[in-house]
Amino acid sequence: MIKDKFNRPVLNLRISVTQRCNLRCPYCHREGQERAPDASIVEMTPAEIIRLSEIAISLGIQRIKITGGEPLLRKDIINIVKGIAELQGLQDLSLTTNGHFLASKAKDLHYSGLTRVNVSLPSLNADTYHQFMDGNLKDVLTGVSAAVNTGLYPVKINMLILRGVNADEIPAMIQFARRSKTLLQLIELEPVNLDKAFYEHYHYSLKEIEANLASQALHVTVRSYMQNRRVYHLPNGRVEVIRPIENTEFCAHCTRLRVTSDGKLKPCLMVNSNLVDVLTPLRKGAADKEIAELFIKTCRSRKPYYRLKVSQMLE
Ligand code: SAM
Repeated sequence: MIKDKFNRPVLNLRISVTQRCNLRCPYCHREGQERAPDASIVEMTPAEIIRLSEIAISLGIQRIKITGGEPLLRKDIINIVKGIAELQGLQDLSLTTNGHFLASKAKDLHYSGLTRVNVSLPSLNADTYHQFMDGNLKDVLTGVSAAVNTGLYPVKINMLILRGVNADEIPAMIQFARRSKTLLQLIELEPVNLDKAFYEHYHYSLKEIEANLASQALHVTVRSYMQNRRVYHLPNGRVEVIRPIENTEFCAHCTRLRVTSDGKLKPCLMVNSNLVDVLTPLRKGAADKEIAELFIKTCRSRKPYYRLKVSQMLE
């Protein structure tokens, strides 16, 4: 297992497999990646993604999340999932999606070795969903049912909270999660790839919401290797809170490394000055050992972000 200089083990790998997306969510952090012009988009092949995953697992990575862009836009997503799922030593493989193509792919994804899925669903109101994301709520809801029915477990609902848009929908979303046999995660907006005015207008601190959930909870569990996120077990459901902003505890317990869709190791969502290109050496024929050394170097360079202030992040 690799630990950084802050004694944080690196256990989770979040791999972006594409920058392409069918939606235009105005809040999207694009996993911290700068947008490449369409003509110059580089994507890793399934073999490259699987090889990087295998090297990462050999260094102690236990859990892999596939993200994007929209990962289900990749025609070879089933090959990617299957190849990673077959790797020895991986404890958890999941994927996050906007859900639009999930209904037709849930079964194949599950048969290929995906055990669970996260579906981004910021609103249950079809108009809000359409206006904000330019997407179709009905397709997402059909995708959620298909994922649950096919046996993907758990299916998590990622609800990004935006001031003035959906904060008042939390009780309805808790009920939806219970009805649909899914688990709800509330996510705080992060100032990544957003302009200052947008962030200041829409950012809604989850501190108060979390205090409210704490007061209602029958008990609370802490995900210690997952940024110390709290899970609130309520009388009518279960809610996990992802509250990274100005939260030193979150960063102190971060165990995550990222890979961008163009094959760069990325130690922190919030920072782009310390990326390490692994795709170029891989394409030039580097041995596993050389790629592993790049992983180790990158992990050692990790620093907890929240010692910095949000205002330093905004454009
Ligand atoms: N297209 C896929 C999806 O919708 O899940 C994967 C990519 S999306 C960037 C992954 C997750 O990031 C989603 O759950 C989304 O809610 C979250 N997200 C996007 N922008 C964010 C931001 N500015 N702050 C916090 N979370 C964000």
